[in-house]
Amino acid sequence: MKALVYEGPRQVAVKDVPDARVEEPTDVLVKITSTNICGSDLHMYEGRTDLEEGRVLGHENLGEVIEVGPAVTRVRVGDRVCVPFNVACGFCKNCERGFTGACLTVNPGFAGGAYGFADMGPYSGGQAELLRVPFGDFNCLRLPPDAREREDDYVMLADIWPTGHHATQLAGMEPGDSVVIYGAGPVGLMAAYSATLFGASKVMVVDRQPDRLRLVDKIGAIPVDDSAGDAVEQVLDLTGGEGADRGCECVGWQAHDPSGTEHPNATMNNLVASVRATGGIGVVGVFVPEDPGSPDALGREGQVAFDLGVFFQKGLRMGSGQAHVKRYNRQLRDLIAADRAKPSFLVSHHVDLDDAPEAYRHFDDRDDGWTKVVLRP
Ligand code: NAD
Ligand code: ZN
Repeated sequence: MKALVYEGPRQVAVKDVPDARVEEPTDVLVKITSTNICGSDLHMYEGRTDLEEGRVLGHENLGEVIEVGPAVTRVRVGDRVCVPFNVACGFCKNCERGFTGACLTVNPGFAGGAYGFADMGPYSGGQAELLRVPFGDFNCLRLPPDAREREDDYVMLADIWPTGHHATQLAGMEPGDSVVIYGAGPVGLMAAYSATLFGASKVMVVDRQPDRLRLVDKIGAIPVDDSAGDAVEQVLDLTGGEGADRGCECVGWQAHDPSGTEHPNATMNNLVASVRATGGIGVVGVFVPEDPGSPDALGREGQVAFDLGVFFQKGLRMGSGQAHVKRYNRQLRDLIAADRAKPSFLVSHHVDLDDAPEAYRHFDDRDDGWTKVVLRP
């Protein structure tokens, strides 16, 4: 089958690789029809992880079931499914409680499994013609009959909409709250979209990319351009000096930090400063060490310092981590199906799998207008 493989820092290529196939009785085989490029792919693409060469990338996948293993009972051949980026068993301590992003069966000792990722198990990605989905009954989200016409909406259920939503939940958002979001990339835009949909009174999104700030405005949130002035001061001005009730980190480690500080903790300190005392912060941006092999890297998470003193004085609370996609995706799917949500508003490009390397370059360079790329194998 054709697939996009990692070949080294900023090098990906479309190659012929062995077909994905049913390997375990609980596997489902999916023919991929839509698969997105994600900001998370860039951690691997830019060479910040120890991903081995030849691995197939891609964790935001949607397609048609073409084969099921003998132990699969719920999912059927012909079903159209969206596949959460988490690989989860459904029966470990964490999965039982809904923490499917931290499944203990598929990646014991660390934090969950995912397709086409460094450090998250051996699973091959879906930027390919075929994808093997382990524990298929648990991991496949079946889609309604209009799925074929609305793939751009439903494919956002694999990762970025549940992830943006997760950021607001980690922050403890309730209806009526004001929310500040750092980062207007796909994840930040989805966090803003969720906050608006789930009843926030005011949603402010900080970035400096004009094309992305325009989308913030389009969904009824307030763009905060941090190239026009200090982000924290702008947020304080917009909240009568109090600060926002909730804050979301949707940036993570950035190779091109538009704040110009070149320092990955800029967003953390800004969040601590722009959320009101006793408010909540949700961190979904991923911080990876620049050199994963270096002895001073703090485990696999990278070192990010922020002002714990102010965090403490303000009595803030914080949640973080990979999204537990399964926890939210059925509910979010039903909002799409009922025509109450259209997360496809951020799709900027549809690209053939053959042209994926070019699309990676544009997305990585944050070229104007390259917000979200959907690959069509
Ligand atoms: P992206 O890189 O396209 O978007 C990041 C945005 O942040 C960009 O628009 C950039 O201009 C902006 N930015 C950079 N520095 C900033 C700063 N100091 N202040 C404000 N904005 C700043 O990526 P994305 O696809 O939106 O993903 C964002 C992060 O979320 C990545 O780290 C990704 O790995 C992570 N992610 C996490 C999960 C999860 O489950 N926790 C899932 C998906 C993605
Ligand atoms: Zn993703």
